[in-house]
Amino acid sequence: MKLARVVHQGRISLALVEEEHRQVALVGGPLAHDPDPVRSVIERRMSEKELQEAVTACAAFGDVEFLAPVSALVRNVFAVGRNYVDHAREFDTSGFNATAVDAAAMPSAPQIFTKATTSLAEPFDDIVFCEATTSSVDYEGEIGVVIAQACRDVSQAEALGKVFGFIALNDVTARDLQRNHVQWFLGKSLDTFCPVGPWITTIDQAPIESLRVQTWVNDELRQDAPLADLIFAVPKLIETLSGAMTLLPGDIIATGTPVGVGIGFSPPRFLRDGDVVRVSATGLGSLRNRVTTVSRAA
Ligand code: MG
Repeated sequence: MKLARVVHQGRISLALVEEEHRQVALVGGPLAHDPDPVRSVIERRMSEKELQEAVTACAAFGDVEFLAPVSALVRNVFAVGRNYVDHAREFDTSGFNATAVDAAAMPSAPQIFTKATTSLAEPFDDIVFCEATTSSVDYEGEIGVVIAQACRDVSQAEALGKVFGFIALNDVTARDLQRNHVQWFLGKSLDTFCPVGPWITTIDQAPIESLRVQTWVNDELRQDAPLADLIFAVPKLIETLSGAMTLLPGDIIATGTPVGVGIGFSPPRFLRDGDVVRVSATGLGSLRNRVTTVSRAA
């Protein structure tokens, strides 16, 4: 199933997405009053059948507003750096990797960092930043993994059994902060720098080998790669993270971005006020976010 949180006629509803018909089925019952219904579905392990039985109405895509599937993040988004070969090369030779030693060297283990919970943005909201804070904002189209249940020490063989589904995500990055502060946390965590959605597709409807992410800036295709090209695949990422800490239902792992980010160009092509970034993934829908710069006073 494809699960969304939408605004319909002024009310927030849980919705089952029928992508091919460009409509949603609105779920009533007890979940109609749940402030965070998608998270509840994940935590309670509710089935599609249960939700279908509670459907009260349908609405066209044009009659609803898609929100981020969860109302807030409980924990930071886990993310993986340099997880596609050609992107690792473009980053290491860009001058923005403060720890690059050998530009030809690929990572020997997943490079995990996080994005602050407050970076969460709605799938069609603006990406907002102050040019006094950063002058080198970049996009990173990615596929995110949504964890189904609390788990620890998960083997690669068991890993996909712990996955609830997948979500499109933009790991927006302030390259100057990423470089100047060495640790990536600050440059990855500005408010609005993590648009997600517009829905979560459960793993049974999103075969991992079919997933592909594409990014456009102002309708120019910049990134286009299959998830199969990851250096460290999803099972390895889950094994690595869960080997260190308990993963929780609803946790998101941003799997990494492919080649084609702004710093891969010479000169770099950073995001500017008015640009529109679109991240699309097979079966996961599309994010569309306008870039807006503000003064510090705002
Ligand atoms: Mg990234």
